[in-house]
Amino acid sequence: MSERDTPRIIPVLDQRGYGLALPPVMPPLQANGHVQDTRGRPLRDLRISVTDRCNFRCNYCMPKDIFDKDYAYLPHASLLSFEEITRLARQFVALGVQKIRLTGGEPLLRKNLEKLIEQLAVLRTLQGQPLDITLTTNGSLLARKAQSLRDAGLQRVTVSLDGLDDAVFRSMNDVDFPVADVLEGIDVARQVGLGANGGLKVNMVVKRGTNEQQILPMARHFKGTGTVLRFIEYMDVGATNGWRMDEVLPSAELVQRINAEWPLLALEPCAPGETAQRWGYADAAGQHDGAAGEIGVISSVTRAFCGDCNRARLSTEGKLYLCLFAAQGYDLKPLLRGEASDADIASVLGRIWQGRSDRYSELRSSLAPDTGSARRRVEMSYIGG
Ligand code: SAM
Ligand code: SF4
Ligand code: SF4
Repeated sequence: MSERDTPRIIPVLDQRGYGLALPPVMPPLQANGHVQDTRGRPLRDLRISVTDRCNFRCNYCMPKDIFDKDYAYLPHASLLSFEEITRLARQFVALGVQKIRLTGGEPLLRKNLEKLIEQLAVLRTLQGQPLDITLTTNGSLLARKAQSLRDAGLQRVTVSLDGLDDAVFRSMNDVDFPVADVLEGIDVARQVGLGANGGLKVNMVVKRGTNEQQILPMARHFKGTGTVLRFIEYMDVGATNGWRMDEVLPSAELVQRINAEWPLLALEPCAPGETAQRWGYADAAGQHDGAAGEIGVISSVTRAFCGDCNRARLSTEGKLYLCLFAAQGYDLKPLLRGEASDADIASVLGRIWQGRSDRYSELRSSLAPDTGSARRRVEMSYIGG
């Protein structure tokens, strides 16, 4: 049976319409601007989805049989404007956010995205530093847009690429998009300076039985280029991809496979809350060979990293999600389009974060499979990766 023929669970609920009650406007508990959740985790990383649309139909994210021509994408009027996004971002920054990732859907489909980047680039962290602004893209429009994104103030970019073999890549994006065009986008991103200081990363979602044969060719291709390749375990996000544990290739196994070809050694994390574990290529003396570089593995399924998860997610229409696996978000749009002041908004955001207890990955194995929680989760194309 081919992958496309695999029977799927069709979602019966559209979670986008639901919203959690906002907390009352009160000053956040900490006076210094930094907020912590109920597990002591600070708020550092904000992921902003700028569109729920995409020109790919990756079968692990937006399977064609669900995201077809009849799928109800968000109407334009319900999307946050760039001014609204920037206003919210400013309040998040006041609560400790240092890094913003633009995502989607496919973020480069959002018209004039450069304008948003320009607006975000002038914000400063609580320490007075520029924000770390990055973007995750499928790379299809990158060759065309890399220069203008860079000019607008984007410093880094992550490109999703699930294989080098054209047939495998076309079948995974499911719209017959050629791999050569994404590789060209990566080259142009490097040429315009988005690769400086390790700023260019490539993410590969690994599905056992689908693209595992691409692991070594991908590692070989990016080894020694300064571009860090990160392997992501196929996750049970959303409710439409028919996820099965037997299609997950555990990172430990992946590291063994690469290590058998090119010896690896574990590297220290660059920053607290980092999702990827770093592995460096070793030289003949068993030391890290800086010129050969490193890979990363994001073990979202086999090794929970909720303990220091400092990420919040803002949907295209202004709902705040505290976990990638959340079923419901907090609708911030009424605040933005009502009478609330900036201080009111910051206060509400602080209160929401202070009430956060999410740690889905840590609990995954103990959750009963029949609780129906999978059916209620929002889609990744809606809140971004
Ligand atoms: N369209 C852009 C892209 O593909 O880079 C940005 C949005 S996409 C939802 C963000 C990231 O989520 C991509 O790297 C994608 O590969 C990853 N992703 C989507 N569904 C996934 C799943 N089920 N498991 C693991 N990663 C997934
Ligand atoms: Fe689109 Fe990215 Fe999802 Fe693929 S992973 S369908 S490119 S949003
Ligand atoms: Fe963070 Fe939720 Fe992922 Fe845990 S499962 S790391 S809380 S997003």
